[in-house]
This record gives sequence, structure tokens and C-alpha cells, in this order.
Amino acid sequence: MVSRVIPVEPFDLVIFGGTGDLAMRKILPGLYRRYWAGQLPEEARIVGASRHDMPDEEYRATIREAIEEFAIEGGDDAEKIEGFLKLLSFVAVDATGERGWPELAGKIRDGVIHAYYFSVAPRLFGDLAERLHGHKMAGDDTRIVVEKPFGHDLGSAQDLNATLRRYFAEKQIYRIDHYLGKETVQNLMAVRFGNILFEPLWNALYIDHIQVTVAETVGVAGRGTYYDRAGAMRDMMQNHLMQLLCLMAMEPPHHFEPDAVRDEKLKVIRALDPAQPEDIVRGQYTGAEGIDSYAVDVGDEKSTTESFIAMKLHISNWRWKGTPIYVRTGKRLKARASEIAVVFKHPPHSIFGHKANERRGNVLVIRLQPNEGMNLRVTIKEPGPGGMRLIEVPLDMSFAEALGEEAAEVPDAYERLIMDVIRGDQTLFMRGDEVEAAWGWVDPIVARWEEDGDRPQLYQPGTAGPEESLMLMYREGRRWRDIEE
Ligand code: NAP
Repeated sequence: MVSRVIPVEPFDLVIFGGTGDLAMRKILPGLYRRYWAGQLPEEARIVGASRHDMPDEEYRATIREAIEEFAIEGGDDAEKIEGFLKLLSFVAVDATGERGWPELAGKIRDGVIHAYYFSVAPRLFGDLAERLHGHKMAGDDTRIVVEKPFGHDLGSAQDLNATLRRYFAEKQIYRIDHYLGKETVQNLMAVRFGNILFEPLWNALYIDHIQVTVAETVGVAGRGTYYDRAGAMRDMMQNHLMQLLCLMAMEPPHHFEPDAVRDEKLKVIRALDPAQPEDIVRGQYTGAEGIDSYAVDVGDEKSTTESFIAMKLHISNWRWKGTPIYVRTGKRLKARASEIAVVFKHPPHSIFGHKANERRGNVLVIRLQPNEGMNLRVTIKEPGPGGMRLIEVPLDMSFAEALGEEAAEVPDAYERLIMDVIRGDQTLFMRGDEVEAAWGWVDPIVARWEEDGDRPQLYQPGTAGPEESLMLMYREGRRWRDIEE
């Protein structure tokens, strides 16, 4: 099977923060991969912009190194890299002053798509929007891409939305959540709405509970200052986990088109019950041999920020009333693994009797990383003599196995999302009202922690988080799936 790559229209893409970590590790290697796959036209132009002064040649050399180090594939294809670098140039621009703007404006061509990627600190978003407007670099068709964090709470998210909307319409604003660009996340929608098999069962009558885990092995060293102000709730739950939850729980949109999908996601957030204190466990990792504690990583012994959170959530609508959704995410856990597991109820009556050794019900696991794929556990008869003994086996679909070589060509989340920006497709981007609704749900929880002086439970690095998080499920006769790669 050879994948079909449809080239996008010619574009000018300016990456503000073009020398930063995200540009080097994700955005530019991702763009290169799309070039390598034949998706970027030769007329595309990519301009790096930051305050640092450097000639184009120096910028290209830096990007060459970044591609060689970070491109998932094609990083050793010297000819292609050379071709890609020809599309690149650099302009020294200060977001907060006038320096560089006329020169940058001079690079923007008529008759092509214009996109501006704000890969800088959010406090600069307003300055960039204002200057793009002031220098007449923004037309009706211009797109801006903004990175997380989108606000720190509801008030700051509303301010940020208001600032951007002063210069750009909502249809021009692409708020990135890279989880939405993952192949499996989109497959979740394909499986739900492209098959008749699952959707009739996708409700509280047939689903016992759902568990979402996003586990990381890394700590917060290196980004401690930012992280300590955010914590797992703001850094992961408000955006990534909330988005996964919405796609998993939403009603079928009438079409797979941006506002139809985002309307349905918004309804899920609005139907979330306020989280109760007994349904939330916060954790903070301790030190271990050769591993610094969270407090050391952020340089504050008294920090009460959580590096782990587990919660039980309820969605109050007809589809989900009565089916709890357990979510957890944390740093320094035992493995890097992210998945959504949909645990179905048992059949209503066992015809096989207790000797059959019936086990837990069917489980559909959607793996986000590593090895993106899906796995459905079904009950069958254990082969051979010995009567009707039942066992569980996986019906496994790993993209790498099912699709062979083509799986290697699956774009990573950033690649796909940047191409969606150029194509003008906002389906996989967060709309302003969704982001605000998510903050509106998170804010009272965080405010209560602050009022109560809540302290996170300590947990050892390399574990599944605090014991109390396991109890969230145990006390109801359920258990978390193992966190394993
Ligand atoms: P970074 O490494 O600190 O880079 C910041 C960039 O902004 C640099 O290129 C810097 O270059 C430029 N810059 C700073 N002040 C500027 C100004 N006044 N005018 C023009 N350019 C300016 O940050 P990053 O990690 O790449 O993150 C960028 C954005 O992505 C942030 O919003 C961050 O929250 C978000 N994000 C990052 C990651 C990640 O993995 N890194 C993940 C998710 C979201 P000069 O100093 O030369 O100006």
C-alpha cells in the first residue's frame, strides 16, 4: 500500500519563536517530514523569526542539525534536507518593539496562504497579533496558531481570547492541542462513528466505566518554574485529558466538520458534574536514588503543586449517567504510556456456570503511546479438552503491524496539525468557548485546594502514583489497568 499524499497550496508560514525549543524539536522537523513526503509545494516559504540576529545561512545550518536529530524519518536524506532548507529564511523581529517588522512584512507574498505560528510565551501573543495587524500582514484568510498554555484560569483565557479576537476572527485562530493530532485519537472517532458495532453499546447501559491514563516517566526538571505554577491539573487535565474525554464521550456530530465536532465536545464539558473532593487524589513525587524530588526539581521545598492527579468524573446526560470516568496523569510514573480503556459490563446472565472461569468484561483499549493502536479483549473458549473454560484474548490492531510500512509514514501530531492549518481545517483545534468552559470547570477545584491549603500525597518515582489513587477504584470494586509500555 502506498499512502496518498496530496500537496497543500503554496503558503507563507512565519514561525515566531523560530529558534526556540518547540520549533527545533517539533515544528521544523515536522515541516521537513511533510516536505520529504511530498506534501509541501516548492513555492512554500517558511520564515523563522525571533530577536536573535543571524543570517539565513546560519539559521539553515541550525535547522539542518535539528532535522538530523529530531525528524522521525528522512533525517539522513541529504538531498531532501537541502531542498527543504531552500524554503527557509530568517528575520530578527522583536514582538514587543518595531524592530524587524518592515523586513518581515516585505517577505509576505500576495496570492498565497498566510499562517503565523506563535511559538513564543503566551504573554507575547497580544503583541504579535497587534503588530501583524498594524503592519497589514493579516488579511481575512490569515491563520494564527497559538500554543498551550491557553490561559492560567478562566479570567486569563477570556482575556487572551478577547485580545486575539480584536485582530482575528475565531475561524482564523488555531489553538493547538497536539493530543488531538495523534493518529489514534482520530481513530477513536473513526471507530465510534464509522462502524455500527460500537456505537449502540457506547453508553451507560453497556459500559461499566472508562479509564484514561496519561503517564510519563520524566520529572519536571528544566521547566520547573512554569510547571510549579501550573501542576498536573492545569498542564494536562484542563487541556489534553479533557479533550480526550470529549472525543470519547461526545454525541455523533452531524458531519465531521469543525463546528459540528466542537459543538459536541463543548456539550460534554458543560455536562460534567463539579468534581467532589473525595473523588480527587493529588500526588507529588519524592526523591529516590539518583532521582531528585519534585521539590528539588522546582527549587521549592514547600511547594504544594501536584505532579500527579487522579479523578473520578461524572457526565450528567442521558448517555453517560451512571458510568464513572476515571482519569489520571502524572510525572515520574513507572512507564511512559497513554491509553483510553473502555470497560464494558458483564453479560447479564452466565450460561456457563462458575466452572467456566468467566473473567472481566470486554475491554476496548485505545493506545496513544507507545505503539499507537487498539486492542479489544474478548472472551473465548480455552482451546482443547477440559470442558467449557473461558479465557480472554486480545483482538489486537497495532498500526505498525496492520499497516506495515505505511504506518511509518503516519505523520506525527505536529505535522498533521500544521498541514491542517494550511488547509484551513479547524476540526482538530480547540475553539475559544471550549477552552473557557474547561477552565470554568477546573477553576473551582483549584480554588478549593488553595482555600483548604490542600497538600498532595507523596509517591515514589517509578510507581503508579499515590496509593490513594488506587483506592479511587478499589473502593468501588474496580481497578486501574497496569501502566506498562
Ligand atoms: P523557548 O525555547 O523559550 O523559545 C522561545 C522563543 O521565543 C525563542 O525563539 C525566543 O527567541 C523567542 N522570543 C522570546 N522573546 C521574544 C520577543 N520579544 N520577540 C520575538 N521572539 C521572542 O520556548 P518553547 O519551549 O519553544 O515554547 C514556545 C511556546 O510553545 C510557549 O508558549 C510554550 O508554552 C509552548 N509549548 C512548548 C512546548 C515544548 O515542548 N517546548 C510544548 C508545548 C507548548 P529570542 O530569545 O531569540 O527572541
